[in-house]
Amino acid sequence: MSDFLSTGTLPDHYEQLAKTVRDFAQSVVAPVAAKHDAEHSFPYEVVAGMADMGLFGLPFPEEYGGMGGDYFALCLALEELGKVDQSVAITLEAGVSLGAMPVYRFGNDAQKQEWLPLLASGKALGAFGLTEAGGGSDAGATKTTAKLDDGHWVINGTKQFITNSGTDITKLVTVTAVTGEREGSGGQERSDSGNRPGKKEISSILVPVPTEGFTAEPAYNKVGWNASDTHPLSFDDVRVPQENLLGEQGRGYANFLRILDEGRIAIAALSVGAAQGCVDECVRYAKERQAFGAAIGTYQAIAFKIARMEARAHAARAAYYDAAALMLSGKPFKKAAAVAKLVSSEAAMDNARDATQVFGGYGFMNEYPVARHYRDSKILEIGEGTTEVQLMLIAREAGL
Ligand SMILES: Cc1cc2nc3c(=O)[nH]c(=O)nc-3n(C[C@H](O)[C@H](O)[C@H](O)COP(=O)(O)OP(=O)(O)OC[C@H]3O[C@@H](n4cnc5c(N)ncnc54)[C@H](O)[C@@H]3O)c2cc1C
Repeated sequence: MSDFLSTGTLPDHYEQLAKTVRDFAQSVVAPVAAKHDAEHSFPYEVVAGMADMGLFGLPFPEEYGGMGGDYFALCLALEELGKVDQSVAITLEAGVSLGAMPVYRFGNDAQKQEWLPLLASGKALGAFGLTEAGGGSDAGATKTTAKLDDGHWVINGTKQFITNSGTDITKLVTVTAVTGEREGSGGQERSDSGNRPGKKEISSILVPVPTEGFTAEPAYNKVGWNASDTHPLSFDDVRVPQENLLGEQGRGYANFLRILDEGRIAIAALSVGAAQGCVDECVRYAKERQAFGAAIGTYQAIAFKIARMEARAHAARAAYYDAAALMLSGKPFKKAAAVAKLVSSEAAMDNARDATQVFGGYGFMNEYPVARHYRDSKILEIGEGTTEVQLMLIAREAGL
């Protein structure tokens, strides 16, 4: 896969996909981005457009209603959408890499047949419920329980900050829950926060929406990603058939960590989009905006700031291309994914801050894209593993 390691030399089918999504982002997403952000409304019409283009099925085989592409194709689409509207990009990212991918990676035939065509069509969204009030980075601290009763799992507990979990088209939430205790001491997989011994057996379970006892509580009032759907969830004696166990009993946590490793490449791609979107806005503005009789881009202080922003985006892109290439060639990619997520989320945040500076007072006005990037980018350093968690993973891979 090294043929796409250098930017600007993508094989034709990837270039074509990126161009198609770029055009869609400019013509359909950009005109309504500020409105949905201001109104905190979910962009159903944009999601329907992405569904029609097949974006939710990009990395899945055609037999499951997918486009027969790969994870890198998804990343390219996320980069293009992330340039223009991070809320739309995270809706696709969470729908595919967190909502549908666990079913594809760990589901049995019946589960894949039941869920993948629906989720790949984009007509329905899936969500991924790992985080709880008491455990985000330390997701092994899960308190939600699932107990077997008469051929059913009975789920009780709460989840926190779950993307795509409360839209009108949400049809599935996959949750981690404690399904028992392991024999003997230890036994819990290493969590992102280290090797915490414990006896919990954590499994993942498919919860169709609606199911009695499942509630998506009122949406959060967030700093950014305002057009993305995020809710706390509660499970009150939710009963689902025993067959809704996803993957092997007791492997739920390990399986979710695998999903997060992949997801970090996708978040990195989205972050690169955000970083590049800031550059593109600044280049245009710096040529137009006049101060002291000249365009501000003619002043080296501004030109160098934008040049540094471009360098960050370029380096971060190379990092996610590298992680994707390793993943697609079946090589270990955990460290590369953590590096990509770390540097690209920082590039997005740094570029958003610099872009706001280049725009001056206008950069502080919510309707400007750079102001939206400024509010949206912070979560990139937090979601799907914080900056500190990426550093832990990289340090661990280095043998520390
Ligand atoms: C908008 C949004 C969408 C989200 N979507 C989803 C979703 O769809 N599904 C889902 O399951 N979750 C989701 N999350 C949750 C997200 O993944 C968590 O917020 C994130 O992993 C951090 O967990 P936390 O919030 O509990 O912070 P904590 O884990 O409490 O961390 C607090 C701080 O302590 C640091 N820290 C923690 N442990 C250590 C350590 N050992 N050493 C050093 N520093 C440490 C962290 O890096 C952080 O700076 C979402 C969150 C948001 C805000």
